[in-house]
Amino acid sequence: MRIVDVRATTVTVPLEAPLRHANGCHWGRFVRTIVEVEADNGLVGLGEMGGGGESAEAAFRASKASLVGHDPARLEELRFRVANPTASLYNNRTQVLAALEFACLDLLGQAWGVPVHAILGGKVRDWVPFASYCFFRYPSPATGEGEVRTIDQVVENARRLKQKYGFRTHKMKGGVFPPDYELEAYRALAQAFPEDNVRFDPNAVWSTEQAIRFGQAIEDLRNDYLEDPVFGLNGMRRTRQRIRVPLATNTVVVNFEQLAANVLDTAVDVILLDTTFWGGIRACVKAAAVCETFQLGVAVHSSGELGIQLATMLHLGAVLPNLSFAADAHYHHLTDDIIEGGLMKYEGGAIRAPEGPGLGVKLDRDKVKEYSELYRRLGNYPYDQDPGRPGWSALVPNDRWADPRDDRPVRIPY
Ligand SMILES: [Mg+2]
Repeated sequence: MRIVDVRATTVTVPLEAPLRHANGCHWGRFVRTIVEVEADNGLVGLGEMGGGGESAEAAFRASKASLVGHDPARLEELRFRVANPTASLYNNRTQVLAALEFACLDLLGQAWGVPVHAILGGKVRDWVPFASYCFFRYPSPATGEGEVRTIDQVVENARRLKQKYGFRTHKMKGGVFPPDYELEAYRALAQAFPEDNVRFDPNAVWSTEQAIRFGQAIEDLRNDYLEDPVFGLNGMRRTRQRIRVPLATNTVVVNFEQLAANVLDTAVDVILLDTTFWGGIRACVKAAAVCETFQLGVAVHSSGELGIQLATMLHLGAVLPNLSFAADAHYHHLTDDIIEGGLMKYEGGAIRAPEGPGLGVKLDRDKVKEYSELYRRLGNYPYDQDPGRPGWSALVPNDRWADPRDDRPVRIPY
C-alpha cells in the first residue's frame, strides 16, 4: 500500500455553550482540521488536528510531497520524515505527525480488516470511562441558555451531565474566577456527588503558594488529582511536597524528555496523555509503558475533539492496562459531529471502543460540507481572549480574575 494523496479540510462545529477557561474561552464552537490520506488501493485514512484554517491546511499540503509513495505501515519512518526531533527545532510538526499517524493507522486497520486497538497490542477493555467535563460557561449565543457562573449553576450542570451521560467522575475546569470562589464551587460539586470522584484543573495559572493553599483545602474530598495548579515542573514539585493530593499534568510533561525529567525528580503523579500533543496514539502507548514501569498514573487528555480524534482516544484507552482514571473529553459539549451516525453515544459514563476496521469512523460528507462552510463564514476565534472582557489577557501566575457576579450579556459573533 502506498500513499497517493493528502487532503485537509477545516471545519467548525458548534458547542452547546461557550466554554470559559483560564486563558480565555472557546467561543461557542471548536475549529478542527480533518485530514484524509488516500492510498493507491482507494482506501482513505482519517486524521484530525486542533485549530485550522489556511496555515493548517497548507502544512498538510506541504507534507504531501514527502508522503506520496510512502508505505503507511512504516510508522517509525513517518515519524522521522515529518517530525525528526532535531529538525523539529525549526519546525514543530508534532501535531501534524499525530494527524498523519491516525490516518495511517486507519489505513492499516482497513487494509488488514482489524480495529486500530488490535494493531496497538489489543484491547484490555471494551468501554472507556469518561469524566464529566464541567466548565464555567457563557450563555449560548444561539439560544441564550446554558450559562454556568453561580455555584448553584455549577452543581446543576454537573447533575444534568450525570443524568444524561452517567458520569461517575467529575472534572471541573477553573482558573476563571478568584480561587476562593472556585474552591467553594468545587467543594459544592464534590459534596453534591459524595460517591463520585472529582478532579480540578485551573490550567496552571496559580502561584505555587496559591496552589498549595487550594490543594490543602481539598484534601478531604474524593480527588482523583489536582491538575496543573501551577506552571512548571519546579512549581509542581514544590506544591507536591506540601499537599496530600496527587498532581496531574497535560502541560509540563508532554514529551519523553520531560517524562524522563519527571521520573528522575518527580513533580507530577499522573500523566495525561494526549494523542495529538504526544505526536500520535503510538507515542502515548510508549509513554504509558514508561509510566507503568515507574508506577506513575496515566489518564487520557482531551484537547477538544470531534469523532475522529475521539476514536483515537478510545483506541488508546482500550489498550492501556494502567489507565486507572476516567478519560477526559470535551465531546459531550458538541451539538453535532462530522462522522457517520452523528455523535457517538455514552452509556453509563463510558463510550465503547470502535470495533470496525481502522479507527472505525467514517466521514459524513454532508456534515463536513456544512461545517466547512460554517468555518468559511465564521473563521477562527481567539482561544486566548475572553469575549466578555475585551482587551484582557491572563498573567501567569494570574491575578486578573473574572467577577462571578458579572452577569452582563456577552455578545459573541455567530
Ligand atoms: Mg488540563
